[in-house]
Amino acid sequence: MLVVMAHNATDLEIQTVVTTIREMGYEAAPIPGKQRTAVGLVGNDGKVDASRLEALSGVLQVIHVSQPYKQVSREWREESTVITLANGTRIGADEVVVMAGPCSVESEEQILDIASRLREAGATILRGGAYKPRSSPYSFQGLGLEGLRLLARARDVTGMAIVTEAIDPETVGPVAEYADIIQIGARNMQNFSLLRAAGRSGRPVLLKRGMAATVKDLLLSAEYIVAEGNGQVILCERGVRGFDTHTRNLLDLTAIPVVKSLSHLPIIADPSHGTGLRSKVIPMARAAVAAGADGVMVEVHPDPERALSDGAQSLYPEQFAELMQQIQTIATAIGRDLAPSLLASPTA
Ligand code: PEP
Ligand code: MN
Repeated sequence: MLVVMAHNATDLEIQTVVTTIREMGYEAAPIPGKQRTAVGLVGNDGKVDASRLEALSGVLQVIHVSQPYKQVSREWREESTVITLANGTRIGADEVVVMAGPCSVESEEQILDIASRLREAGATILRGGAYKPRSSPYSFQGLGLEGLRLLARARDVTGMAIVTEAIDPETVGPVAEYADIIQIGARNMQNFSLLRAAGRSGRPVLLKRGMAATVKDLLLSAEYIVAEGNGQVILCERGVRGFDTHTRNLLDLTAIPVVKSLSHLPIIADPSHGTGLRSKVIPMARAAVAAGADGVMVEVHPDPERALSDGAQSLYPEQFAELMQQIQTIATAIGRDLAPSLLASPTA
């Protein structure tokens, strides 16, 4: 439930609404906006008597949020959420953001080599798994803490922000310590204790859509994170299971405009896991930007043939540089821009 204040409501009137909501046994979340302030009533509001709130001075109207997900919905907050990282990259604003890097962090040489080439091509966020959720227990599971340290080293050298995955509540702590964004993988989208732990971490969270999850499921999972007090959530369309075996997954680009209308959270696309095939990554990355994605995440490896995971879908660095040019062109055509590159800023 949302208590919308009149545009000239005083601080005292807003505070009275907050206190009243708390007296009624609910949490209150003030939501300042450009036009007016609203106060959210957080919790199961099915039985709330709205007339008590409507009668308070300075209250314009009380709105029942119709969706099961509340705080992530556009009904709750009309303005799009923008997340600003320490290196200045903004996610959810007019700029299209590019996150790139290998599937897994494999060695210092590999991650430093690829990071400098990605930065050169204009990417501002480096991806790379230190903890890998693999379908087989016999596949490479990642370098763990050492991988996180190598990512931090790559950030020191290039100025790129880091996104890397936490696979369980235990790994949220170390990932939050080293990374700028905590990734939650498709296989974990409904791991509710992990979502809660990521919500309490205070770090931005990249939440990937589960391979059999609806958009509603995705938004309800995001609500778990926001309900812990962390509004910095980025959604990611990474493909769902289809019936056609030509691609690894079915990249659901329709989800992008759908999410944009239902939620104020930013959404990016991952055409690498979405297609599983190097030759299909570039066209689908272009399509995702054209469809209105706030960014793309792509796997790039200095030597894909020798990659320890997902080599077949990893771009060569030269292909990535070409893709960046194309993304710039598409972004311009739809009235957006590419996130400013780090090339002008000094590195440590
Ligand atoms: C990844 O990004 O490395 C990954 C494992 O992706 P997903 O969770 O989408 O499969
Ligand atoms: Mn991968």
